[in-house]
Order: sequence, then structure tokens, then C-alpha cells
Amino acid sequence: MATEQRIEIHDQDLRQFEEGLDGILLQPGDEGYDEARVIHNAAYQRSPLLILQAASARDVIRGVAFARNRELEVAVRSGGHSVAGHSSSDVMVIDLSPMRYLEIDPERHIVRAGPGLTWGEVSVELHEYGLAVPSGDTGSVGVGGLTVGGGIGWLVRKYGLTIDSLQSVDIVTADGQLRRASAEENPDLFWAVRGGGGNFGIVTSFEFRAHPVGTIIGGAIIYDASESRTVLPAWARYAQSAPEELSTIVFVLHAPPLPFIPPEVHGRNVIVIGVCCVGDPETGQGVVAPLRELGTVLADITGPAPYPAVYALTESVAVPGFHSEIRSSYLRELEGDALETILRGVDTLPAPMGLVQLRALGGAMARVPADATAFAHRDRSILAAAIGLWEDPTEAASQRAWVEEFGRDLRPHADGVYVNFLSDEGPERVAEAYGQETYRRLSQLKRTYDPANVFRLNQNIQPG
Ligand SMILES: Cc1cc2nc3c(=O)[nH]c(=O)nc-3n(C[C@H](O)[C@H](O)[C@H](O)COP(=O)(O)OP(=O)(O)OC[C@H]3O[C@@H](n4cnc5c(N)ncnc54)[C@H](O)[C@@H]3O)c2cc1C
Repeated sequence: MATEQRIEIHDQDLRQFEEGLDGILLQPGDEGYDEARVIHNAAYQRSPLLILQAASARDVIRGVAFARNRELEVAVRSGGHSVAGHSSSDVMVIDLSPMRYLEIDPERHIVRAGPGLTWGEVSVELHEYGLAVPSGDTGSVGVGGLTVGGGIGWLVRKYGLTIDSLQSVDIVTADGQLRRASAEENPDLFWAVRGGGGNFGIVTSFEFRAHPVGTIIGGAIIYDASESRTVLPAWARYAQSAPEELSTIVFVLHAPPLPFIPPEVHGRNVIVIGVCCVGDPETGQGVVAPLRELGTVLADITGPAPYPAVYALTESVAVPGFHSEIRSSYLRELEGDALETILRGVDTLPAPMGLVQLRALGGAMARVPADATAFAHRDRSILAAAIGLWEDPTEAASQRAWVEEFGRDLRPHADGVYVNFLSDEGPERVAEAYGQETYRRLSQLKRTYDPANVFRLNQNIQPG
């Protein structure tokens, strides 16, 4: 397909397209092309014929028209962290990374953010005002992709998903129109954009409500992975019943040689319970305390910290240039056979970089009705994932085999999946990410807003 399309894009077409762009157009051989070609997950190496580095909504409109009129496969990229490699293509990429404006209204707690910002950048700027918008666990993830899939992070139990703080978007739909979508304007489109991924257009501006988040109790409590059978279920019980100020994410991995991890622990399989407790720090210390009593603590590095510091916890596993593969599912509980599957994953953890991740959900996320947005699985308790990470291509087969086995074993206990944690796992899994009713509604809206499926390089919803 790419070869045929290479012939169809004529020089004159390109010159016309390039004229008057606010951003730039890159082709193989151009300066900057090699850097612009790359995405976070090195398992997906693509060489696009065209990369539009869009600097404005106007550029995006022109890019969409160019791709649509020539029926080009088009990838949309904000932060480039798609776990399925969907933000690159051998044909055309619309790269929004130059769109990095941020307007903060500290009085009204309203924030307008460009899609190309990372959540780490947004959090640092907002922290100046004692504010935060819920995002994910990693600072380098982009505003664009995380938001349109839902957004599950360090504030999920207190302030919900990222989309629960979304007030409006400006979005270029497949017909090339720039539309505003909010509760009042195009509410059906606004519903779909909150969880429907990149299926409905390209968001050029996000408007969020920010929340008062200043100093948190952050950091991690570390146990030996040999205590997983007791520590993990005890963590799950407490993490779900604790005050909503506390959100936690567990990583079971080979302890990396980081300064905050005691040297004697480096290289051992450990359980890292990452914590983020908002509100009064003194009260927060009390809320976190039971997490120190789940077994024999190897290290406790929790304490008062500015909210953006919470991203330091994941820096060692979010390294650009690594290959990665993921399988994940929601679970209703961490008990019985589901627990046994997780424990098997932990016991067979591939060295040096595989990890099992568990997130405790509930709280504000669960209070939003399942049909209020296109994110249906509001009432799930646990999100479990196995993530293979490798730099050396010879590790690919063993890492992938471990991840796939974990995914297969977890399926009988799974209760849906999070769209942003899906690899390319086929249309059935995309349907599982939404559930029947939400998928049906999304499919109808896809027919309205993108009947020709211009935006198909994503967790694709078929026009109904
Ligand atoms: C290291 C790492 C940590 C992660 N942690 C979390 C986490 O804690 N919580 C969580 O919820 N998710 C997490 N994710 C998943 C992440 O949310 C998704 O991969 C998300 O798509 C990444 O957003 P991005 O803008 O960086 O990605 P991109 O690769 O740029 O985009 C991914 C897809 O999103 C769509 N998209 C991107 N920008 C736009 C836009 N402006 N308008 C419309 N559609 C768009 C496109 O379909 C695109 O293919 C993590 C991923 C990684 C790699």
C-alpha cells in the first residue's frame, strides 16, 4: 500500500500543501526527519512518506484534507506513547508535538492545553498555582492520546479520570471542519471524544478544570517479591477501602539501580507500592501508614513532595528507545484464580525489565455513570497489566511470550480492558474495551463524523 501511495503523491501536490503552512512538512532525507520518525515504543519502526509537523489548527485542517482526498493512511501523534504503535505509519503522520500552548486561569481553575504538551510539562506549570489535572503515571506521556482514551493516574480515586476534568475540546473532524465540543456544543461528539480514542477527529485544544493539589505524600514502599502472596491482596484490600485522597500503583519488577532504592535491594524482584496522597500532608501520612504494615518493608521512601515529583517513580521504566509489549485487563477482585495468575506472572518475571503493574481504582472514577462518557468500565476495582520491556532485540521472543501467556491466563478472570492499554489485539478486544452498549453508540457516531474511517489507525471503531 505504501509503495502505491508513494507514486500517487506528486511534487506539485506537495508544493501546494506546503505553501502557507504554519508548521513544516518532512520527507525522508530532510533534516529532522529521522528524529521526527521515531515514537516511544521502538518495537514500531516506521518510515513515513510525509510527516506534517502541525503548528496550528489550520495546519491540521489542511493535513486531514490532504490525507482524506488521497485516501492516505494517516497516523495522529501527540506525545508518541501509543503502546500499539498507532502514532506512526509508513504513509503519513500528523505530528502535533509543536502545538504546546498552555493557558492557565488560576482564578477559575481552567486550563487550555495544546495536544503536544506532555503531562509532566503541564504538571510543573500548574504546580506554580497549587493546581493539577489528573493524568497518568508517567510525565513523558502526551496530553492528546492519554486524554482521548480516558486517563487513569495518580489522582484517579480523588478526582477521577482525565476526561472527568475535560470541559471542552476543539477538534478537526474527518470532513475538515474545526468544531467545538462540550456539554453544550456538539454534546454527542463530546461524549465520544471522552474515551473513544482518536476515532472522531484530531483534538487541537483541550480545556480542563484543574484541582487544588499542592504537596502530596508521594514516593513508594518496597517489599520483596517473595511476599507477593500476602502483600498484593492486602494492598488491594486497603487501597480500595482507603480514603479517596490515596491513589496507588503497584509495580513488581527487578529493582533498578536508582538512588532512592537502597543498593542492597538493586536487582532483586521487588514490589514497589507507588503512592500519591493528596490533601493535608499530616493526615496523608496516617492514610499511607497501613501500607507499611503489609509485610517486611525493604525500603520506605514516602514523604511530602510537590505533586510533579510523583512522575519520578516511573522514569526508569518509561525509557524512550526501548521495545515494549503489553497485555492488560480489569479485574473485579485480586483473589482466587485471578490472584494465582498474577502470582505466576510475578514468579516468571523476565529479566531485566519486565514488570507486572496493578492499579487500585474506585472513588471518583466510579461515581460517574457508565453512560455519561464513552468510558464504560467505571466500576472495575483493579487494572492489571504485564509489560515487557527490552532494548536488545534478542530478548523480543522471550519477553513477548511472557506477556502473551500472562494475557491468555488472565482472560478467564478479565472484565473488560482499558483502551489505552491495548496492543494490536484485534476488533474483539476493542469491543471489550467499551462493552456492547457504548460500542454501539460509538459506532453510530463514527458513521456520523467519520463514515469513510479516515481515522482508522487507532483502536478502531467501525462506522455502524
Ligand atoms: C510509559 C507509558 C506509561 C503510560 N501510563 C499511562 C497511565 O498511567 N495512564 C493511562 O491512562 N495511560 C497510560 N499510558 C497509555 C497512554 O495513555 C496511551 O498510550 C496514549 O495514547 C499516549 O498518548 P500520547 O499522546 O503520548 O500518544 P500518541 O502515540 O501520540 O497517540 C496515541 C493515539 O492517540 C490518538 N491521539 C493522539 N493525539 C490525539 C489528538 N490530539 N486528538 C485525537 N486523537 C489523538 C491517536 O489515535 C494516536 O494513535 C502509558 C503509556 C506509556 C508508553
